[in-house]
Amino acid sequence: MSDCIFCKIINRDIPADILYENEKVLAFKDINPQAPLHLLIIPKKHIASATQLDESDYSEIIPEIFKAINHLAKEYKVSDKGFRLVNNCGRDGGQTVDHLHFHLLADRQLQWPPG
Ligand code: C5P
Repeated sequence: MSDCIFCKIINRDIPADILYENEKVLAFKDINPQAPLHLLIIPKKHIASATQLDESDYSEIIPEIFKAINHLAKEYKVSDKGFRLVNNCGRDGGQTVDHLHFHLLADRQLQWPPG
């Protein structure tokens, strides 16, 4: 989508610190980190939010996202000590970028409940 900021990152129209990429998925450092390690994992396909998945996304996109998450967690050595995955969905969920993304937050003790 031409006016989507994450699509622009995928297309290299705007810069990002990209750490992982394959045919379906991209991961990069969050520009405004909320933890020492704060990554965003996104599908290359423009999907507006977790409520907008179509039938094929469940088998073709979601597994690839979780493979990327586990690959990155191992690479950044947080797999054993733990991390938090967040998907903000919609207005009340705090979603600000309308392109499906998972936050991976790690390298500090995270609190619960979230705000
Ligand atoms: O879940 P939410 O939609 O609020 O998350 C969007 C995230 O995208 C924010 O954490 C923001 O810092 C990040 N972002 C980014 N690079 C941009 C624009 C937004 O990392 N160019």
